[in-house]
Amino acid sequence: EEVVNRIAAGEIVQRPSNALKELIENSLDAKATNIVITVKAGGLKYLQIQDNGTGIRSEDLEIVCERFTTSKLREYEDLKEICTYGFRGEALASISHIAHLTILTKTAAAKCAYKASYENGKLKAPMKPCAGNNGTQITVEDLFYNVIARKKSLRSPTEEYTHIMEVVGGYAIHNSHVGFTLKKFGENTDLKTPVNSSVIENVRIIYGNAIARELMEIELQEPTLKMSLRGCITNVNYSHKKGTMLLFINHRLVDSLSIKKAVDSIYSTYLPKNSHAFVYLSLELDPRNVDVNVHPTKHEVQFLYEEQIIEKIKSCIENKLLSCNS
Ligand code: ADP
Ligand code: MG
Repeated sequence: EEVVNRIAAGEIVQRPSNALKELIENSLDAKATNIVITVKAGGLKYLQIQDNGTGIRSEDLEIVCERFTTSKLREYEDLKEICTYGFRGEALASISHIAHLTILTKTAAAKCAYKASYENGKLKAPMKPCAGNNGTQITVEDLFYNVIARKKSLRSPTEEYTHIMEVVGGYAIHNSHVGFTLKKFGENTDLKTPVNSSVIENVRIIYGNAIARELMEIELQEPTLKMSLRGCITNVNYSHKKGTMLLFINHRLVDSLSIKKAVDSIYSTYLPKNSHAFVYLSLELDPRNVDVNVHPTKHEVQFLYEEQIIEKIKSCIENKLLSCNS
């Protein structure tokens, strides 16, 4: 059974940035306003996230890494109207099956913090009271230490770190009210956004002024399709050989090849050949129409009314580009 759990966990968490995404979403769910991430070897040796959120009560700490333990799903009905990011209660459990996981946490009401280490979903030893700030610090060490196949298939720490930067940068832009810090252990900070910043300011900090100064905001409401869209896109003065597409659906960073293609097709009439724009989109859809969470290995998101929704996104971007180009 242990092997099965481990294989399942290794499928949910395919690389350090997948684990980090889950941990960031947990911190955001816990209403953190400041999140500090520290990494060693692209997150393969060490990945730590410190937040100033609600913390975890000591009585919950014991079971927090068991599968399907979640404080976010009260009833089955909630499944249909889920609004928080996670509802599976599987992230911490999965990570604890393929890494050494330690949680240090304190709620505002508690007199002291508690520290607990986990292995295979269970507490490794009784938790210990200790000193600590309000909030939660989660440390993931030696990710995939027991998943030999996964370790082999992984790329370099440098490449893993690039993925981590993308995830942290994306969430920092999308959650500009929250301060994000990313650094390599014992080194200077690589990325830092202030608390209560703005989307454009954070794009400037993370991607540079060449992009930030060409940004235009877009917004669209389509009640009949139960969609709303907001975002920032570069105008036709900016182009880059690789380009950037940051897509959030219901506040979760996802990939959609079909949206990417649609956006590219609009820009291709304006930009030089083989060059791309910077596009950040936050799409909100009726949660019942999205299967972001159905299977965590699906990075590629699926949603209903895709054709109609993509048409709306296209014309919204097209209109904006036309209006700035005339
Ligand atoms: P889910 O997010 O789907 O509930 P997780 O495995 O990601 O499942 O987390 C399990 C539970 O642990 C959460 O429901 C929450 O109660 C608690 N938790 C995890 N991370 C944090 C955090 N950073 N701050 C407060 N509570 C947390
Ligand atoms: Mg979660």
